[in-house]
Amino acid sequence: MGRRILFLGPPGAGKGTQAERLARALGVPHISTGVMLRDNVTRGTDLGKKAQAIMAAGDLVPDDLVVAMVKDRLAQDDAACGYLLDGFPRNVVQARALDEAIGTGALEMALLLEADEEELVGRLLQRALDEGREDDNETTIRNRLQVYRDETEPLVGYYPENDVSVVAVDGMGTIEEVFARMMTALVDN
Ligand code: ADP
Repeated sequence: MGRRILFLGPPGAGKGTQAERLARALGVPHISTGVMLRDNVTRGTDLGKKAQAIMAAGDLVPDDLVVAMVKDRLAQDDAACGYLLDGFPRNVVQARALDEAIGTGALEMALLLEADEEELVGRLLQRALDEGREDDNETTIRNRLQVYRDETEPLVGYYPENDVSVVAVDGMGTIEEVFARMMTALVDN
């Protein structure tokens, strides 16, 4: 059945970078709803058209759309041997939908990548310069952090209540340092 691991953490904590590396190391697909949604926007699909303005404002795309997208992705062959989920679930409604789709107890663990707020904002502003992402400007960044606190952070309590352990990893330092911490967390838990 392979490993089914979930990544939690605020925008800018480095989830995407670390999840991609970890997925490669474990030989499972990296499933990022942010990447999938941006791809839909680029291709101009119906979903992309519905999501574009919402994403640009830093708000959450409606649950039913995101849940349907993830279910389709999890039904593909390469996900049969496990996966790393990044950016999903982002609230309790999505977490319940995931439990329903894969069965409670199917998740092995959640890795919570942490960094302090000043560092997060700094990294996101830098990414705005590097990558030109539409949702990386100061107003939107503040909103995304607020949405994280209101909607996503409650999952740090939800999962332990549902028998999935949440392991916190310090996201400060170099990419290599953080990756090493994550590998240790995986081996120890
Ligand atoms: P970040 O972690 O920097 O916020 P992501 O790439 O994970 O970036 O997500 C970018 C945007 O895509 C979010 O701000 C949101 O609008 C949308 N999005 C991604 N995943 C979800 C999800 N699970 N539910 C709703 N919206 C999502």
